[in-house]
Amino acid sequence: MNFNEELKELVVYEAGKPIELLVREFGISPEEIIKLGSNENPYGCSPSVIEAIRTNAKMANFYPDDSMFELKERLANKYCLDLKNIIIGSGSDQIIEFCIRAKCNQKSRILMAKTTFAMYEIYARQIGAEIIKTPSHHHDILEFKQMYSEYKPDIVFLCIPNNPLGECLEKSDVFEFISQTHPDTLVIIDGAYQEFAFAKNKNKGIDPKELLTRFENVIYLGTFSKAYGLGGMRIGYGLAPAFIINALNKIRPPFNISILSLFAAIEALKDEDFVQVCIQKTIKEMLRYESFAHQYDISFIPSWGNFITYTFDNKYSSTELSNWLLKKGAIIRDLKSYGINAVRITIGRMEQNNKLFALLKDFFSQK
Ligand SMILES: *Cc1c(COP(=O)(O)O)cnc(C)c1O
Repeated sequence: MNFNEELKELVVYEAGKPIELLVREFGISPEEIIKLGSNENPYGCSPSVIEAIRTNAKMANFYPDDSMFELKERLANKYCLDLKNIIIGSGSDQIIEFCIRAKCNQKSRILMAKTTFAMYEIYARQIGAEIIKTPSHHHDILEFKQMYSEYKPDIVFLCIPNNPLGECLEKSDVFEFISQTHPDTLVIIDGAYQEFAFAKNKNKGIDPKELLTRFENVIYLGTFSKAYGLGGMRIGYGLAPAFIINALNKIRPPFNISILSLFAAIEALKDEDFVQVCIQKTIKEMLRYESFAHQYDISFIPSWGNFITYTFDNKYSSTELSNWLLKKGAIIRDLKSYGINAVRITIGRMEQNNKLFALLKDFFSQK
């Protein structure tokens, strides 16, 4: 059977490994497994969110409110925007897909950093758009400017902070870059880890209100999967001028969010304290990952997210380490598929991190 030509070049996205895999393959019991491979919130989500999911479970027979009024209203309040500036997606992942499908065809070009969130490239390839990557792995704003004027892309992705490397462009550089783009270029600001960056340094924070006030050709993506601890509920959002949201709504299927996910996200926005406490703990634990790296002479990329990337040069193999850890019940992310010998580790709870440090020590001392 023949499929769409574009699929020939595509490989299936390798998602972060689940706990179930280690239970099945190595017989490790679930409570012993430390899952630090998918940048989830290791502290869970707000207790009031769990309560809201429980109380609303009896609504499961109903389709959700497709206008998503209540969630949009809460987001509008949080960001001082109008409801017409908001679209909700099954993860912000789905909004990336809406943007590419709304804007691109086989003649389109999409500019991104060499090493960034893999889904940009996957959705771009599905459409058959041309992918243009900057030479450096990380976001280099000068390279973005040069490549932008050379290739005149239809979409530019800026992942701020960047997953999987952790670096984060300065707001002033981002704004200056956008100001030099053509009104017909859609600049996508992926803010999946903005909460963490903003808590560390206000200059790294992008205020969506300011972004939308200054520019017409931008969309800001946020998610409940990381700081808010709702990865399993699949819910994210896009904030953009109304004419962009209108276009995306033509792509959005009805009821793209489950009714329980909507209740969960609404409740999560009422408990920002929970989020702030998690962020502070993460920042504190991150320092221990930096000291650990210094102690064992491992290079790392200073991170603005909830994860840290250790790079090994030729010292260790990221794949060998990741596979060895799996058998010991620890899941981290091997970045081999991105073409770098490095691992990305989600900053866990203190006791999870202690366990991982002990395992890493074992591994390094065997080498
Ligand atoms: C996790 C992540 C997302 C979106 O995740 P969803 O669960 O689909 O909301 C988007 N961009 C980046 C860079 C991410 O790391």
